[in-house]
Amino acid sequence: MIKEQQLVKALDNSEGIILITEPDGTIVFANKTFEKVYGYTREEVLGKKPSVLKSGFHPKKFYDELWQTLANGNNWSGDLVNRSKSGEIITERASISPIFSDDNAKITGYIAVKYNTSERKKLKAQLEAKEHLFEKLFENSPVGIFMLQALKQEGEVVDFLIDQANLKSSSIFNRISFIGQYLSGVLGNIDVPTLLREHHTEQHGEDVFEWEDLYKRKILEFKLFGLGGVQYCLLVTDVSAKVKMENRLKESEAHLRELNETKDKIFSIIAHDLRSPFQAIIGFASLLNDGIEEQSIPEIKMMARQISNMSEQTYKLLDDLLTWSRSQLGQLKAVPVKLNLKQLVEKCYNQLSMVADKKRIRLNCDVSETLFIKADKDMLEFIVRNLVHNGIKFTRNGGRVRCWAELEGSKALLHVEDTGIGIQEVKQKEIFSLSANLSTSGTSEEAGTGLGLMLSKQMVDLNNGKISVFSEPGKGSRFTISFDVLS
Ligand code: ADP
Repeated sequence: MIKEQQLVKALDNSEGIILITEPDGTIVFANKTFEKVYGYTREEVLGKKPSVLKSGFHPKKFYDELWQTLANGNNWSGDLVNRSKSGEIITERASISPIFSDDNAKITGYIAVKYNTSERKKLKAQLEAKEHLFEKLFENSPVGIFMLQALKQEGEVVDFLIDQANLKSSSIFNRISFIGQYLSGVLGNIDVPTLLREHHTEQHGEDVFEWEDLYKRKILEFKLFGLGGVQYCLLVTDVSAKVKMENRLKESEAHLRELNETKDKIFSIIAHDLRSPFQAIIGFASLLNDGIEEQSIPEIKMMARQISNMSEQTYKLLDDLLTWSRSQLGQLKAVPVKLNLKQLVEKCYNQLSMVADKKRIRLNCDVSETLFIKADKDMLEFIVRNLVHNGIKFTRNGGRVRCWAELEGSKALLHVEDTGIGIQEVKQKEIFSLSANLSTSGTSEEAGTGLGLMLSKQMVDLNNGKISVFSEPGKGSRFTISFDVLS
């Protein structure tokens, strides 16, 4: 026979909470686990009823039914929510059985074996909270997330089956359902083994696969990693907006650099090109002023010519600088009007006739009287004047500058052609932009600024037109501008 002491020891060592009561519920035994969980000493509960443990959670009816079941000689099992000595809520899974007399005639007491489920419940709640958090992160992530299962052949991953995909994935790939699809298909029939081979890296000792790809004009970044076994996770980030932003930054940086170069160029023009003609003008003028009587007529003529040339150059330079500054301030606005091209060319010829005469350069105009175009008057005059002026400047004495026009669809093309020195091919690409040291002197050492063509190009653009150059060094150049015809 097992001794009572041994029995108490065995019950004490049980992981379960054990309470033994008399038929009326008076506690006659409580084991050590009970003491540990509830914080009462055995002595404190002996002689008391289990109702001392009540938390108020269960209604009276609940206890009535419990006791009724037991009084009927049946077992009762279920979940109890009790309170410990310190007031802490204890949830337990209980199994209570009647103890019968030897002859089974009557109930001599009850034994309750209970397991504290508070910890387990807490863990479960924590787990659920984590799962909930993961779900929220998964669905609200700004990154596309795919949960994948690797498909292997002879140990090598050949494709992935999609188990789950979040909302963002749908918006990236413009489709609703992914589950059960092959990843290779979703990404546009890619070869998975090659992809994995080419994009493998190791991060913190783990295999990671990172690559970039285009998908329907989107730039996507991919990161694939294992989660253990055949489970994998693929993160997809749409970086199109970021790349666009970077490009815009690069563009604005280039624009700023260009503005800075322009500023340098303007300062150098002001410092040099504007000062030196003025020094010459002042020098000749004071020579004439101080001692005109001592000079011979040819000398006086020469000085007057120099003053006239320098003034002309300076005026042109100032005019260009003024136009340039207006263009920089964004004040250049095209006001398109109906213009007769022939009249416009002839007006420019008139303005430049003295310059052309000096070099005995013929100015020919083969433009139909009936050709009308739509453009800003001042701008078109500036452009044509500059092109003709350049034609004269870069053509040797006795040469020719010719303007002629033709129709091409809804556009009128005006060609300004000279028999001058021409432009080397490498330089042709640069002459419409402002770059340092581009300007060269004319055939009679006429100075320049390198501003004229750059401004002409800006104005042509503002008038919805185009400008181009065809030139053969030593033979001549042909500049062509195109504008909308006015029918
Ligand atoms: P600038 O004539 O004041 O230097 P432009 O912008 O008008 O400024 O021209 C830039 C450069 O392009 C000139 O310095 C010259 O080297 C070249 N160029 C322009 N037009 C001609 C032309 N018709 N023939 C040869 N070279 C030309």
